[in-house]
Amino acid sequence: VNWGKWVRSGAVFALLLLPFWFFLCGHTRPFNSQDMLILNVGIPVLQAGWRAHRHRTPLGRALLQALAGGLMMNKGLEQAAKTDGESAWKGWQAKIMMNLGASLAESAGKEFCFRMDIGPVWFLADQYGWKFRPGVHGTIAPLLNLAEGAKIDWKRSFRFGTMAFHRPQNWDGTIGSNGALAYSNANNFITDERGSHVGHELVHTFQYRRDAFFSPSLAKLVPEFENAIADNWVDDTGWSLNWAVQCAWSDLKYQDKDFDILMEREAYYLSEKYSPFRPK
Ligand SMILES: [Zn+2]
Repeated sequence: VNWGKWVRSGAVFALLLLPFWFFLCGHTRPFNSQDMLILNVGIPVLQAGWRAHRHRTPLGRALLQALAGGLMMNKGLEQAAKTDGESAWKGWQAKIMMNLGASLAESAGKEFCFRMDIGPVWFLADQYGWKFRPGVHGTIAPLLNLAEGAKIDWKRSFRFGTMAFHRPQNWDGTIGSNGALAYSNANNFITDERGSHVGHELVHTFQYRRDAFFSPSLAKLVPEFENAIADNWVDDTGWSLNWAVQCAWSDLKYQDKDFDILMEREAYYLSEKYSPFRPK
């Protein structure tokens, strides 16, 4: 393990992002649109500034590109919460907006590369050409879902451009064994047969896309893993690390990880604000 690199990237990450982290996690008021802007625009703009500094590329351009990308991600997430599975166009529109926004933000300060996850594979395109590569977590997650007895919902998968699974409802309306009404794993979501709470889960799959550049990932932390996946896989492990850290943090504070972690607060804020199935 290259400890020097580990410590350096950890220190930069901590200096840049921890103040936001404490701001976002440390208070009890409801999540709001300002928090959305910090997450989707503020942090990517800071990251772009750091990237431009490291690659010695024009700073102003990098900041503007990250700003534009961040606003698109913000819009994509809002649009995701509005989808209800009835209109395929809305789901795809949100997905493309999210992926274009994330690609702009993550390439700000370096060469542009469009990256979009479509089920287990990622579509990657830059000025030299395009290719498909499997995502590490995106490939494992569907296998886990199948092993747990969830069935692939092809129709919903094509509607959303995201792998959808369904499981039969238990007597109390939950699915599976951990009391969830619906849940997501990487860029997959699992709902009951009617697709309840699909907008909320779609938000989580978009968080996976954002975390593919936003959060420290296995390859960034463990050079051996980076060498092992090389150019053959996309490192999409940022989401799982981010989730694990947020859950550990909520445990320390005796909070409920299904509601109190930042990812859930963002998803509930969006689905409660925009869901067409608001139960009121
Ligand atoms: Zn959730």
